[in-house]
Amino acid sequence: MKIADVKSHVLMYRLDEELGYSQQYYTMRTAHIVEVVTDDGVSGLGEAFGGGGVALGNKAIVEQTIRPLILGMDPLDREVIWHKVYNLLRDHGQKGMPLQALSGVDIALWDIAGKILGQPLYKLLGGAFRDRIPAYGYGMMLQRVPDLVQRFAAEAAKIKGMGFGAMKMKIGLGPEEDLKLVEAVRGAIGDDVKLMVDANHAYTAREALPLGRQFEKLGVYWFEEPVAPEDRQGYRDLCQALDMNIAGGEAEFSRWGFRDLVEGRCVDVLQPETCGLGGVTEYLKVRDLAHAHFIPVVNHVWGSAVCVALNMHLLAAMPDLPGGAHPVQPMLEYDTTPNLFRENLLAEPLGVLDQVAANGGWVALPKGPGLGIALDPEFAARYRVAG
Ligand code: CA
Repeated sequence: MKIADVKSHVLMYRLDEELGYSQQYYTMRTAHIVEVVTDDGVSGLGEAFGGGGVALGNKAIVEQTIRPLILGMDPLDREVIWHKVYNLLRDHGQKGMPLQALSGVDIALWDIAGKILGQPLYKLLGGAFRDRIPAYGYGMMLQRVPDLVQRFAAEAAKIKGMGFGAMKMKIGLGPEEDLKLVEAVRGAIGDDVKLMVDANHAYTAREALPLGRQFEKLGVYWFEEPVAPEDRQGYRDLCQALDMNIAGGEAEFSRWGFRDLVEGRCVDVLQPETCGLGGVTEYLKVRDLAHAHFIPVVNHVWGSAVCVALNMHLLAAMPDLPGGAHPVQPMLEYDTTPNLFRENLLAEPLGVLDQVAANGGWVALPKGPGLGIALDPEFAARYRVAG
């Protein structure tokens, strides 16, 4: 079997209301779906992290840079393909967009392997350690509105009402504003819901430390990306100074990037983004590296239903750390803000929100070979943009 084609599908639409995080506000929703086609008709789906112009740039890397390197290769030779592409692009970027583009291709190769074997991805990864996964609701994105505190409180109550037992909110407006937001959310959900805050590297360590001390009093479970991903010393200092978990890793790439993060004890919770760091092939190395240092891994999930399905398999196949009769379960990050590409992209939707509502925040494993998904072709065609 040979790789016959590699295609990128960039889908976009405009949101009714802008959404933001500490770095920017945006109105365009994007999904970048990568498709690898074989000469005997089996094809696989992957997703590459990055929206807007980043997705269009990554599409060019997928189709014009990676595609010619791997046409004609055996799609089952995932390691060989990964290393060929990485080695040839190493001089042009060991992080960032080349790795995001490679991620989409690599994930599609794993989907193909599962389809050939007739087995779900988690079986290829060694089997499921659990038959259900707890999900946490991500929402409360920043908006330029005068009543943001009230909006956050109302949205937090809504996410709790959807059945989630844990949730994550954006911060990064400045320490005083952030504290008001977190206090309002904690007040709205009570003390029994797990709460995480995400600063998207808005702060220096000197700014983040006193803020973290306030968050500890509010029972925040983790403080995500408090400082810039390059600031490893800042991460380390926060881990040592605070009792709360410091989380990060979504902006890191490859085993070599994560090696430095993990060996430096820079995070208490590692959040690898498989659609960005190098795909499933590289994720497995990163996960095992973290576990070798007894650092728990809670995958970063952002994107379309393809990415959500992928992560359900990865979380099913996550070994318990350190192991025991009552292990802490790795959570599925689930974005609850409006996104047609999460809820409407698949021929058969994943039904995560229905399951969360019915099962107290838990979701079952996906069925079907590979990722176990197929796009709704008409829906995908409607939102595909040229580029
Ligand atoms: Ca984040």
